[in-house]
Amino acid sequence: MLDSRKRAAVFLDRDGTLIKDANYPSNPAEVTPVPGAAEALRQFQAMGLALVVVSNQSGVGRGFVTEAQAAAVDTKFREIFRRAGIAFDGVYYCPHSPEAGCDCRKPQPGLLRRAAEDLDLSLADSFLIGDKVEDGQAAQAVGASGMLVTLDSERARAGLASGLAVFERLADTVAALGRRVKAPLATGPTSP
Ligand SMILES: [Mg+2]
Ligand SMILES: [Zn+2]
Repeated sequence: MLDSRKRAAVFLDRDGTLIKDANYPSNPAEVTPVPGAAEALRQFQAMGLALVVVSNQSGVGRGFVTEAQAAAVDTKFREIFRRAGIAFDGVYYCPHSPEAGCDCRKPQPGLLRRAAEDLDLSLADSFLIGDKVEDGQAAQAVGASGMLVTLDSERARAGLASGLAVFERLADTVAALGRRVKAPLATGPTSP
């Protein structure tokens, strides 16, 4: 059941979606935003959507990245976007290795569920943007809309086959999302 009192969110994958993908990122100096990411996020904010980052960081669970390194990368990531005027409503990480069998490593939807609980979100009205099919599958598992941003034709095909909306650039998702976001509740006088 949709609950109109709850807020909708746009869930965002981090690596490869908001910042350039570094394999098992451990160095804050290498955090580089994807071109157009801050502008897209500003527009999502203006639509009234909560901005929630959901990111797999299995490098921690695999022992490739220390918790301190992961925290330093997170700090730099938030700092870059804060300076660009972006306030995330939540940032959630799964630090587990695939073998751990946790419920939060995408395609499992645990991070989305946790955020929905913490932030009182309506998952059915929410969106998720990621660069892998597994991101979209986490959205589909909770009835949210999955959007895939990729220039890789292989991934794009897999995304379409999984029922995801596929885009080449993050900027391309803005118009698509704008058309689908419910109009925010009127707070002032409305014309008839
Ligand atoms: Mg990614
Ligand atoms: Zn996990």
